[in-house]
Amino acid sequence: MDKQLAQLKFRDPARARALGEALNRVTQEIGRDPISVMHVCGSHEQAIARYGLRATFPRTLNVIMGPGCPVCITDVPEVDEGVALALAGVRVATYGDMLKVPGTKRSLADARADGGRIDIVYSIAQAVDLARDTDEEIVFFATGFETTAVATAAEILRGLPKNLSILSAHKYIPPVMEIVSEMPGSRVEGFLAAGHAATITGSAVFEPFAARHKLPVVVAGFEPLDILAGLLALLEQIRDRKHDVQNLFPRCVNREGNLVAQDKLWRVFEPQGGRWRGIAHIPNGNLRLREEFANVDARKRFKIDIKSLWEDAPSQLTQHCICGDIMSGIAAPKDCPLFGKACIPDSPVGACMVSSEGTCRIWHQYGGVPDLREEQR
Ligand code: SF4
Repeated sequence: MDKQLAQLKFRDPARARALGEALNRVTQEIGRDPISVMHVCGSHEQAIARYGLRATFPRTLNVIMGPGCPVCITDVPEVDEGVALALAGVRVATYGDMLKVPGTKRSLADARADGGRIDIVYSIAQAVDLARDTDEEIVFFATGFETTAVATAAEILRGLPKNLSILSAHKYIPPVMEIVSEMPGSRVEGFLAAGHAATITGSAVFEPFAARHKLPVVVAGFEPLDILAGLLALLEQIRDRKHDVQNLFPRCVNREGNLVAQDKLWRVFEPQGGRWRGIAHIPNGNLRLREEFANVDARKRFKIDIKSLWEDAPSQLTQHCICGDIMSGIAAPKDCPLFGKACIPDSPVGACMVSSEGTCRIWHQYGGVPDLREEQR
């Protein structure tokens, strides 16, 4: 009951209307069209779509979803590594969203159809349980941002079963904000940072970025009022030409973050440069296992031959998919000619239509183009 009451408090229509009016007032004071801000989180996009928040946004406010879907930015060769392991007879455990993500020539679902053993798990803890129940080698294909990487790190530090190893495709969000804001054609004037990731890193992690790029960052939660209040704070900073880091999710986030979780994360992982699918090479954007954990690193335990995968099937990758441009904030799903036609959730062409956190999937689920500003024009 307490939880329900708390949710209602953050979904109060009167307060939402007041915030909507304030957003209107501040956008008029800024006086530009459009004013573009970016959030970097599929959960923010889901909440914006589910609660119809775009209908309340001022016509001149453009809220863009950036590279906030961990499945979408898992790079093609990383999927190929999982496929190669499965086809070589190794059991691969991973999250369900990863199954249909295209590799160069096969997805994990294709590998499963070809006889590969793929187990769907909801957490690394389940992969540990799987490994304890068998003598077979199991590889946990670990995807996700720092929030999920902490769970992987904690299990590794606790000690994995001998037959379990990790194929890390974990990513670290702060570096990609640097790249996206520097991209030619970037229109981003401020960032709404994801509250759950900031519970780990703390809001201070964004301070060097805000100072370097002179862009405001506001940490926000996921209830409708969290998002509206976060956007209002962001717009007020844009109007006042400020570039501070503000924490509007203090019920979960503090400036320093969770120091115990950070200690686990950085003891196990080191940041390395690597490609994010469709976007760019992101310096320090990939989280890879440190040398001390080579014994549980699937890349060291197995010889993973991805090149032989590239010979015998047509490529799954289509040049028509503009998922990378969408995640970089320079296009929207409605700009893709395949959206809702050749590309739908049951037969996705690109990764953004696969995951429940992908922009194309969310927009498709909530009626195609939930940008109601179009109807106001
Ligand atoms: Fe790619 Fe499909 Fe989105 Fe188009 S609709 S950008 S093909 S994922």
